[in-house]
Amino acid sequence: MGVSHLLSDVIPPGACNLLNSSTIYANNEVNLAEVDIYGFDYDYTLALYSNALNTMIYNTARGFLIEHFKYPEGICKYDYIPNFAARGLHYDIQKGLLMKIDAFHYIQPGTVYRGLNPVPDEEVLQLYGGTYHVPLQQDSGFYGKVKGGPKVKQFMDIFSIPEMTLLAAANDFFITNDIEYDPVHLFKDVSVSVASESHGIKYDTIFLCCGEETDAVLHRLVSQGKKLFLITNSPFSFVDKGMTHMVGKNWRDFFDVVIVQADKPHFFTDCIKPFRRLDGNGDLRWERIQSLEKGQIYKQGNLFDFLRLTGWRGSKVLYFGDHLYSDLADLMLRHGWRTAAIVPELEQETKVVCTDRYALNLTWLQALTGLMERLQTHRDPESKQVFQEWQSEREELRVMTKNLFNPQFGSIFRTCHNPTYFSRRLCRFSDLYMTSLSCLLNYDLSYTFYPRRTPLQHEAPLWMDQMPEAGLCSRVSF
Ligand SMILES: [Mg+2]
Repeated sequence: MGVSHLLSDVIPPGACNLLNSSTIYANNEVNLAEVDIYGFDYDYTLALYSNALNTMIYNTARGFLIEHFKYPEGICKYDYIPNFAARGLHYDIQKGLLMKIDAFHYIQPGTVYRGLNPVPDEEVLQLYGGTYHVPLQQDSGFYGKVKGGPKVKQFMDIFSIPEMTLLAAANDFFITNDIEYDPVHLFKDVSVSVASESHGIKYDTIFLCCGEETDAVLHRLVSQGKKLFLITNSPFSFVDKGMTHMVGKNWRDFFDVVIVQADKPHFFTDCIKPFRRLDGNGDLRWERIQSLEKGQIYKQGNLFDFLRLTGWRGSKVLYFGDHLYSDLADLMLRHGWRTAAIVPELEQETKVVCTDRYALNLTWLQALTGLMERLQTHRDPESKQVFQEWQSEREELRVMTKNLFNPQFGSIFRTCHNPTYFSRRLCRFSDLYMTSLSCLLNYDLSYTFYPRRTPLQHEAPLWMDQMPEAGLCSRVSF
């Protein structure tokens, strides 16, 4: 079948150049002219880290696993594998399986890994009782919280990438050496190793990148009369070191309120912890907090007190964070601030989406699906055979398209055609999303972001129905 000449009719010219990684994408309409107050998370929002940090976290956590938890030395042979894992994946703690789950809680076939090797689809079905569906109650809750700990954990932090890679490596070591082990212990020990080591490493400013852009964004917002605040879970000494490196020692002049060790997401949901003030040495003061003042550093606190003391409510506040659950979910679901998600993966993913190869695969995939939809009602043996051939071609195309992003897990936004679990929550919890804060530099501060109106299934004929039917079908022999 002459695919390429067929497709030259189908791909609109120039369609591949419409996206770029400095675009801000809108899930919901946001008019920046209405936003007076800009709030920020710190890690992976104001402070971006180079990929070298992942290798460093992996190496030190691997060392901790061996030295502190006495895991076998052989795990040392496993070096960090860049781009093995991707954000938003799920991990079945008891079975020791890393996998990608879609918006409807189905595992995407071909994306389940035990250690460093894929698990065949038939085995996955067997392991999950004949279905790819993972029940919600086993997962880490609607937005990341579950009592008693989840059986299936979703990795949402950007720095969980070295954690997933270490889990895969350690699982692989035990499996290939035929050593009996408990995947639940391994999960907990890796988690503790990464947590205890990663914070210390992040103190090292050599991993910080894009500091000039952060500086430029803060300058621009302040020079246009916007109010700025910072709510981070990190300790003051850490934030102070990073911000001084990126923005200079007077970085606190940019912010009207600075809150450290906020304990998000509880900061947004509980009203138990009052604010405390830190003095110039970083020591806690005993005084009751009656107001949040510029130039001071506050610790803990809660959003209810924050709203009462500042009066910063509703859509005049836009909060930027990288963690969909602990930064953005509660603000969207309960409090009505506007939210913006930082998704660095967009840079790589939009590059792939802009390639001719991707456009070609996707167009043919859609066309083939449309043809299969029509052919399925033909019951004669010849049609059935053609249908089967198309089915395997469609499967090959899906795998090829997935591999353009990441050979193990594909795009973080899509499974075959559905949005991923990650993607659905991104749409649910963020008004805007972008590669990094620096994307703001491309827009006027009175700009309105309009989401593209995409048709619902019942609103428009399926895309594949709009194909030039006569032309297409005449070239395909049924
Ligand atoms: Mg963060």
